[in-house]
Amino acid sequence: MDMDAPALSPNSFRNTWCGQVLEDAVGQEVRLAGWVHRRRDHGGLIFIDLRDRTGIVQLVFHPDEAGDAHELAHSLRSEYVVSATGKIVNRDPETVNLELPTGRVEIHVDGIEVLAESETPPFAIEGFHGEVGEEARLKHRYLDLRRDQMQTAIKLRHKLTTAMRRFLDDEGFLEIETPILTNSTPEGARDFLVPSRLQRNSFYALPQSPQLFKQLLMVSGFERYFQIARCFRDEDLRADRQPDFTQLDIEMSFVNGEDVIALNEKLISHLLSEMGIEVEVPFQRMCYDEAMGRFGSDKPDLRYGYEITDLTDVLRGTEFKAFGGVIESGGSVRGINFGQRELSRAQLDGLIDDAKELGAKGLVWAFREGEGWRAPIAKFLSAEELSGLNAAMNAEEGDLMLVAADQPAVVAGILGGLRTRLAERWDLIPADAGNNFCWIVDWPLFEWNEDEDRWDALHHPFTSPEGEFDPENPGEARAEAYDLVWNGVEIGGGSIRIHKPEVQAAVFRALGISDEDAEERFGFLLEALKYGAPPHGGIAYGVDRFAALLAGVDSIRDVIAFPKTASGGDPLTGAPSEVSEIQLRDVGIALRKPPKPASA
Ligand code: ASP
Repeated sequence: MDMDAPALSPNSFRNTWCGQVLEDAVGQEVRLAGWVHRRRDHGGLIFIDLRDRTGIVQLVFHPDEAGDAHELAHSLRSEYVVSATGKIVNRDPETVNLELPTGRVEIHVDGIEVLAESETPPFAIEGFHGEVGEEARLKHRYLDLRRDQMQTAIKLRHKLTTAMRRFLDDEGFLEIETPILTNSTPEGARDFLVPSRLQRNSFYALPQSPQLFKQLLMVSGFERYFQIARCFRDEDLRADRQPDFTQLDIEMSFVNGEDVIALNEKLISHLLSEMGIEVEVPFQRMCYDEAMGRFGSDKPDLRYGYEITDLTDVLRGTEFKAFGGVIESGGSVRGINFGQRELSRAQLDGLIDDAKELGAKGLVWAFREGEGWRAPIAKFLSAEELSGLNAAMNAEEGDLMLVAADQPAVVAGILGGLRTRLAERWDLIPADAGNNFCWIVDWPLFEWNEDEDRWDALHHPFTSPEGEFDPENPGEARAEAYDLVWNGVEIGGGSIRIHKPEVQAAVFRALGISDEDAEERFGFLLEALKYGAPPHGGIAYGVDRFAALLAGVDSIRDVIAFPKTASGGDPLTGAPSEVSEIQLRDVGIALRKPPKPASA
């Protein structure tokens, strides 16, 4: 447990914390309260490790000195809640435990009171390392949270959010709450809906972010806003997502992109420094197109190389159909040189499966051999093509090359995905790589949605285009947007917003939102922008992810006190759950019947 020393005013249960019983207080009488962490009963002497939020201290019950307390100590079990009084004494040298900060002393108890008994917990609070399933941990989360690791993570999160608040307060930001029951704030996910009882047939949506409200607060003249805001996105199952999650949401007036970036570099380096990590600012910047081209990702991990090489020009006109056909149809062929690797045939085939999971139709693997390739497809390529490929990928004898061909965005996704997976599998990230922060800038404003045959906003529809917006060429428009990537994880993103109503209206139109629709859904924003909206912009950070990275845990669930499982359920409360007929009637909802079995 951490040794953070929270101030304590003595009260009727305790006058000091367990973790703060140290040598300098030897001889003093103390009163402590906490949980029985462990009991060792030697018949005569009884030892109790007493645990509170700050740590553990050893209580000793002497048969001769402890009186009634000794008798009572026999009956104590793990996780009983007790309050004890006694004297701090030095331990015998041979019983000193240097692993405990309090391990040089112990308390000779003269009185103890049992405040609550405990049943045997379903899993041990002490010393379990992952062998208890997550479902069980979440079902008894209040016990799971007693564990050292969880206590540390939740405290770290508190420290992080406190540092955020302090920094932003010092910089003149106001913390302002925005509604949870509201209308849709599109960020590209589905809304969670809440039926209204008072206004039948109407629904609130839970906010996907406070985006529109924070913009309205800029129109209101608050100039600098922040909120540690709960956001809700009803997305399909994805590893390590939560349907409700927390953002540090920030908005500022009278700023351009550079101003927002500068303030945020100050914020991030301050937060990390508070957590004991020093980083240099300004952070590196990379254009979106470059990130996609070189790393196949809009959140590239720049701690290691293995960049993507475009091979399209080398292979233009090739007889080999699998490549030639793709190139003719406007696609591209790209590859990564993964250097010297010893892989079995099964492992190489496994890479093809990886690529398929990432959306590839196939994947070519090849080892440089002399001027050519050792590869199943080597015979389909000319000597000139092979040596051209080796040269383009800087391949040396025996280097493994992975090559994919498809439409540019698809190949980028495949190779970018492989690069990330293999970095982990093959341990490609240098141990001393440190922390890499990079702004991804110069984003396209829109991306083409094949399925729906329309443009979608890459960030959200309120992002300002760079320069003049040309509605005739939406695909050409760039956004005044920036994402912050930390070691290959997107931890924040934001933009300068549209502050002119006519530009906002034009962007809605380009997104295929009719004027009537725009009026109905966002009329309040369009109207607000007519009353003197200052230029403004901001950013939002994923607090859960930020805390998880700092805590060095794999899952954001490990830094959330009461998270949901990957399928969006809460094993503790049973949410989501059915509701009664009466509740449904109140809100005017009738459930659709489950589909009838086919045979009926
Ligand atoms: N509202 C955006 C988001 O949730 C962040 C921003 O643009 O400030 O991603």
